[in-house]
Amino acid sequence: MKKHVALRCVLSLATALLLALSPFTTALAEPSSETLLLAEGTAAETQARIDDSGVEGPTIFFVAGTHGNEWAGYYAADELMEEIFPTAGKIIWVPRANIQACNIEQRTAEDEVNLNRVYPGNSEGNPVEQVAAEIMALIEQEQPVAVVDMHEGYNFYGVDGSIGNSLVLGATDGSFMNGLEIISRVNAQNGDHPDFTFDSNAPAGSLNHEVSTRLGIDTYTIETSQVLEMEERIAQQKLFVHTILDVYGIPVEEESA
Ligand SMILES: [Zn+2]
Repeated sequence: MKKHVALRCVLSLATALLLALSPFTTALAEPSSETLLLAEGTAAETQARIDDSGVEGPTIFFVAGTHGNEWAGYYAADELMEEIFPTAGKIIWVPRANIQACNIEQRTAEDEVNLNRVYPGNSEGNPVEQVAAEIMALIEQEQPVAVVDMHEGYNFYGVDGSIGNSLVLGATDGSFMNGLEIISRVNAQNGDHPDFTFDSNAPAGSLNHEVSTRLGIDTYTIETSQVLEMEERIAQQKLFVHTILDVYGIPVEEESA
């Protein structure tokens, strides 16, 4: 990972004055947005963005575009990256985790490597394994309170083996306790659509399973159902993100269009 935009940690004069005048302020720095390249120089090179409020608070980590034919996850991430910015803590985005798969709108790229089965990755492996290793390293470095992977299923939960219309909870107590609250709050705002259910069987090699079991961090996989219209699924993905931010205490401001 190479930092392409240096993170500015220099206090502005105004912030310095504020700190001098108020011993209770928690402002650490100006808000900043830093873009990193993962698996730089490989066919799988993709961006991560760190939106830092400059104010003390929790960090949260969102991944989308793990599977290129699960559009609502990465379309929602695109919109949210334009629309929201944290006012405390940090939000980290990896909006096109498998960028080659997203570019051809298929589950995997032509290499047929499923990103969500190769975690924790391999820094010496193929390009997709390198992306996985660098996402894991960034999570380990930033220690988020939760990691959220934005996916879709082809049907509703249990229909033809689909896990669509569910939230897959990681293997931590926090994932379970907070996950049930998140689902309940989303269902209360989900209109006439079928209620989301929960699942807890993220497979070995998935981001959800490997982050929660290896790092003890709460994890969630959002799975909207592709039976619904695209705009409904994007709205559901965004509703999950806003609810998760609220449950984990990361306040955001909405950018005006
Ligand atoms: Zn998926």
